[in-house]
Amino acid sequence: MAAHLSETLQKKISTRLRFYEDLGIPLFYGHRCSVPRTVPGPSAQAQEIPSGTPALPEEPVLAKPLAPTLVPNISAAAISATPKTTFIPTAAKPSLFAAMDRIPDDSLLKIRSDLGECTRCKLHRGRNKIVFGEGNPKAQLVFVGEGPGHDEDVQGLPFVGRAGKLLTQMIEAMGLERKDVYICNVVKCRPPENRTPEKDEITTCSPFLLRQLDAISPQVIVCLGSVAAQTLLETNRGISHYRGEWLDFRGRKLLATYHPAYLLRNPGAKSEVWRDLQKVMAVLGLQPRKGRSS
Ligand code: SF4
Repeated sequence: MAAHLSETLQKKISTRLRFYEDLGIPLFYGHRCSVPRTVPGPSAQAQEIPSGTPALPEEPVLAKPLAPTLVPNISAAAISATPKTTFIPTAAKPSLFAAMDRIPDDSLLKIRSDLGECTRCKLHRGRNKIVFGEGNPKAQLVFVGEGPGHDEDVQGLPFVGRAGKLLTQMIEAMGLERKDVYICNVVKCRPPENRTPEKDEITTCSPFLLRQLDAISPQVIVCLGSVAAQTLLETNRGISHYRGEWLDFRGRKLLATYHPAYLLRNPGAKSEVWRDLQKVMAVLGLQPRKGRSS
């Protein structure tokens, strides 16, 4: 069927399907691989989308800042600081990460050096700058996004556009600064027209992400959006099936939440993200920034 559709129409359909998936509406094909399983903590929330979900608006809603009024009155202390984590991959396919041992004495400097002026995948053709990652090399909290956008490609830094500004607000709301955490992406070069990274690009680039995560050795990894979550969890399931649940990634706590770019289109989801971040704060012993609801 795809052979009869124009490239533009295929891109529009792809974008719309991804939007539905971000919302937790199952896609129109069978799930092909593993399902992350969790043991819900006391604060776990059901995220199932009810039947009869109303049609989505044609245009995205204009962005608003992460306003304190959008932050629900839930204290971090009220959320368990010792969540159970379970991740049972059910895929019978080879794992991208399982076979990769930790490299002794690896460091971000060495990984960046090994990456070099990378041409390993086709994304190098359109990039301006490689966006390796930024932040504290010993961070206890790492945010993993999808890939660089226009602003990131120009500056060579992750999350510096509109979505990045929102991420900065989220980090500050947690009582941290950007320099306290580490921020990186699944792919390090901007996909053309900000399309979703393709499987071969993710497969080629993500081993460097894995080395970064191993070298930093954070207590918590937060995946921002479906691509990051699906990559690290090696699943095709939409993020809504496990968003806000504690999962295991190579012995570390992993939590998936919505991408800030999704929040720019859907400000109403900020309260869900804030609830997710409060779970992270509870684990890391963080207090919300003064003046913010708690
Ligand atoms: Fe290399 Fe990653 Fe860029 Fe592809 S996306 S060219 S693997 S750095």
